[in-house]
Amino acid sequence: MIIVMEPKATESQIQAVVSYLETNGFKAVLNRGDIMTVIAAIGDRKLFQPNAVASYEGVREVKLISEPYKLASREGQPDDTVIEFENGVKIGGKNRPQMMVGPCCVEKELDGLLRVADAAKECGCNFLRGGAFKPRTSPYDFQGYEEKGLEYLKIASERTGMLVVTEVMDTLDLPLICEYADILQIGARNMQNFKLLKAAGQTGKPVMIKNGPAATIREFLLAAEYILSTGNPKVILCERGVKGFDSTYTRNTLDVAAIPVIKRYSHLPVIIDPSHGTGRRYLVEPLAKAGLVVGANGVMMEVHHDPDRASSDGAQSLTIEQFKQTMKRLNHLMDIMEEESI
Ligand code: PEP
Ligand code: MN
Repeated sequence: MIIVMEPKATESQIQAVVSYLETNGFKAVLNRGDIMTVIAAIGDRKLFQPNAVASYEGVREVKLISEPYKLASREGQPDDTVIEFENGVKIGGKNRPQMMVGPCCVEKELDGLLRVADAAKECGCNFLRGGAFKPRTSPYDFQGYEEKGLEYLKIASERTGMLVVTEVMDTLDLPLICEYADILQIGARNMQNFKLLKAAGQTGKPVMIKNGPAATIREFLLAAEYILSTGNPKVILCERGVKGFDSTYTRNTLDVAAIPVIKRYSHLPVIIDPSHGTGRRYLVEPLAKAGLVVGANGVMMEVHHDPDRASSDGAQSLTIEQFKQTMKRLNHLMDIMEEESI
């Protein structure tokens, strides 16, 4: 913890802060600059009360140095978390990035999902995504086929060997969804649904959380901390964009910088979602590439057999043909990055 004193702080004001720190069990280390004095408080962060210190005369600013997320933090675990699935597929660390591919929601006809899954498998993708329980802004929009959707995902997964990623919106649905999902997805709107985070963590399944549309990176990591604190280490983060001030040309503002930032402060795998992050089909490939180049452990992409008739998110969904072309280039990029150790 760092206490920055005002340039005009008097010696007695500085000493008052030092004595407060020492009587509360902290060691105070003073750094007297030409303009201002900075005091480092060394001790147990949990006992530190920033507001109490900030109220002392002559204090300009109190900064917390160590992060409030302990389990998600790289300080506590320097090595990358790698999540390994029963079929040997791994996500995280130096493993080749994983692709999570599929329609926004599982549609009424199974055939479309199978066509997407077949194409994804052919392109080397290991994860099939699709929503059976859909978080929709309007209650009048299509809400998902629920159990039927889960059954379709299972059929497609058994046919291709792909692992299933699907969203859970309510703790009540967890037992059912756990029968079908290999990764539980917690969507952007539920990033701070703390009961859901804890309950999902308690299942022991890998959980992927998407950042809330207005969440800070610290809040995102604290959401991960909720899951980790249940004793479940299998957490994946997914950057899916935030609400920007300009939504004229894009649905959200995809924060590509969040990938290396999160990887600096946390050991957890991070993937990028350029579909929801941009809302525009033509932006999916360039932003997927950007994500890979800055170190994403995977990419989530929405692909639909007939995007113009999709029940949700058609405008950001790739056609199967576009997806195959995109994957050719993404695979090439990943090959180069692997060969050159980029
Ligand atoms: C999704 O991935 O299906 C989804 C609804 O995404 P988000 O939570 O990022 O809006
Ligand atoms: Mn979607």
